[in-house]
Amino acid sequence: MSNKRMLIGLIAVIVAVGAWTQVNGLTLKKRDGTPPVPTATASAEPSPQPTASEPPQDARVIASLPNRTIATNDLGIAVVTNAESTLVLANKKRNLPADYEPSDLVIPNVPFAFSDNSPKKQLRQVAADALESLFAAAKEDSIDLKVVSGYRSYKTQQSLFAYYVSKHGEEAAARFSAHAGQSEHQTGLALDVSSASVGYGLEESYGETLEGKWLVAHAAEHGFIIRYPKDKEDITGYSYEPWHIRYVGTDVAKQVMDKGITLEEFFDAVAVSAGKSAGNTAK
Ligand SMILES: [Zn+2]
Repeated sequence: MSNKRMLIGLIAVIVAVGAWTQVNGLTLKKRDGTPPVPTATASAEPSPQPTASEPPQDARVIASLPNRTIATNDLGIAVVTNAESTLVLANKKRNLPADYEPSDLVIPNVPFAFSDNSPKKQLRQVAADALESLFAAAKEDSIDLKVVSGYRSYKTQQSLFAYYVSKHGEEAAARFSAHAGQSEHQTGLALDVSSASVGYGLEESYGETLEGKWLVAHAAEHGFIIRYPKDKEDITGYSYEPWHIRYVGTDVAKQVMDKGITLEEFFDAVAVSAGKSAGNTAK
């Protein structure tokens, strides 16, 4: 191939990639013009500094503060810049990138409420390991838990939401289902669990069952939180979901569950103590 041909080819590729990026609206602009902050690896658990009084929040938590992890894309949509962090905050105000797919999805060795080999069996490695330990602890306490749904891609969420809208209308659908990009299931860190006591259904009464109560009491010991607690819809944007758990690591999970707060409130409190305003509720 001649140099001239190679040059023409190269220019064509650059133009094509540029056009594709424009069309998909994927170019991210950090609001303050600085390059995105690299996020910590998923497997790195925070190591709290032992101090006499209130310990300082781990640097990883500070780096994950909502006002430090958001950018506006070409379509004017607020998109998180730390999708691969175990502390990513995704909600109705904070979209996951449409092209975000976790790179370390695996199938946890736990019971599922369905038999087909669906992609929704998958979770990110760190969440899958934690789930295996959660389910082992449940089994020891004679608590029956099964996974109903784990990872969901952007495209799957898109179809699911469209289906709910066609069935219930947009307003009702938005209270219990997420627009594509706004579902935690896309992170590979969240999943729905249920039990035989409610026919492996996803319903509010699950919170009153033995298994639902066990989950509230023990989820944090394995790094999970009940992501959408009761009476917090104005903060999380979603109605009570006692079946939806989210991996954040034991350190943050214990703080969230001990205080009976949401992930949004946790970050708000960290931001206040760090002397910063976050403004990160999903109202
Ligand atoms: Zn869920």
